Amino acid sequence: MSMDVATGCGVAELVAPRMARVHIGCDRVRAKTARAVVVSCPDCRTAGGVVETLVRQAFGFLHDQLFDDPRLGGGVLGLADFATPEHSVSLRSHIDLLANLHSTPEVILTSHGGCGWCRLHGKVFSCRKAERQFHIEQGIIVARKVRSEMPHRTVHYAYLELDDVSGDATLEPISID
Ligand SMILES: [Zn+2]
Repeated sequence: MSMDVATGCGVAELVAPRMARVHIGCDRVRAKTARAVVVSCPDCRTAGGVVETLVRQAFGFLHDQLFDDPRLGGGVLGLADFATPEHSVSLRSHIDLLANLHSTPEVILTSHGGCGWCRLHGKVFSCRKAERQFHIEQGIIVARKVRSEMPHRTVHYAYLELDDVSGDATLEPISID
């Protein structure tokens, strides 16, 4: 780590890319099916296994149950009526493709508080409670629509809260019935 003269901040050294390897097991490599398609926002705060850990806890995934994880801006709110048609078509095509490809019986749709994609679409909130309420209302609308379009699959919506006081990430499944 070196120091940037202008800002006084540490600057990470650039490291040349190199070959990497991780053992994920033959069962996983050979898998042709997945339990679910899990839609989330590609926010850096929820990367690195955060969404996977929360989904496994909240929905009781067994160790060997895999899921596809399309991550597009806004998570499932990419299908809300304030999203651009192009964005919605792209997200929907990912869900359909993965659900069919891996014969998934479930679709888990998520969105998260403090979402920059939502802010860019004019969604600014006075407080965390109002933000959560908005996400849940929109999430239920979209999840019901997805469920009506794929009645042979179980569709869920869950709200992901990022608490900047406790530092906790919490996934809250919300009934769409
Ligand atoms: Zn986001």
